[in-house]
Amino acid sequence: MGEEKDTTAEQGRGRRGVNRRTLLIGGAAAAVGTAALASDQLGRLWWRLPGVVKKRKEGEVDARGAQWVAASDYNWRRADRPDDYGIDMVVIHVVQGGYATALRVFKDPAHGAAAHYVVRKDGHVAQMIRELDVAFHAGNKSYNERSIGIEHEGFVDRKSSFTDAMYESSARLTAGICERYDIPVDRKHIIGHVEVPGTDHTDPGPHWDWDRYIGLVKKARTALG
Ligand SMILES: [Zn+2]
Repeated sequence: MGEEKDTTAEQGRGRRGVNRRTLLIGGAAAAVGTAALASDQLGRLWWRLPGVVKKRKEGEVDARGAQWVAASDYNWRRADRPDDYGIDMVVIHVVQGGYATALRVFKDPAHGAAAHYVVRKDGHVAQMIRELDVAFHAGNKSYNERSIGIEHEGFVDRKSSFTDAMYESSARLTAGICERYDIPVDRKHIIGHVEVPGTDHTDPGPHWDWDRYIGLVKKARTALG
């Protein structure tokens, strides 16, 4: 997700070995001020009241072909998008670690952040949070509320992280999101974490090929009709 280099090894030491300082994934917890985070946490409680829980099926996914892997519910907030918050943005992230690391920390309630999707090198997609819910991935409350976050396994300083299969699969995923919420396929609406106001994260970094990616999303979007 951001500034630091290859910290996978340190991150891999058991559950508590995922320490906040080295952990970049979904760095909302680190990037967001305490006040904003507290506000997100308070916001998570309202849905526990009777009568405001939207019906959902366990294991249901929004993106065709995605595998459901539930994130800890401490890493997102229940919502009813696009009815309560409109969705007009996709935020592209890079894990600064592997796919397994991303899944592990997003399942960890102590992490305080997670993205809706994680894309693996071979193009496999895990959905960890429903699109109607607000994931804590951008480190910015209003951007979280209006966007869907996609993590990509790999490192910002390693061009080889971003494979053909990953670009194509991620582009299909983003095209589907753009179709569902009528989001224009352009760089105003498909942005990098680095472009979120107030962030100190650099992902997806200089090796992410935006021209190629947007081209692939457009192609996939056209194919959806
Ligand atoms: Zn990020």
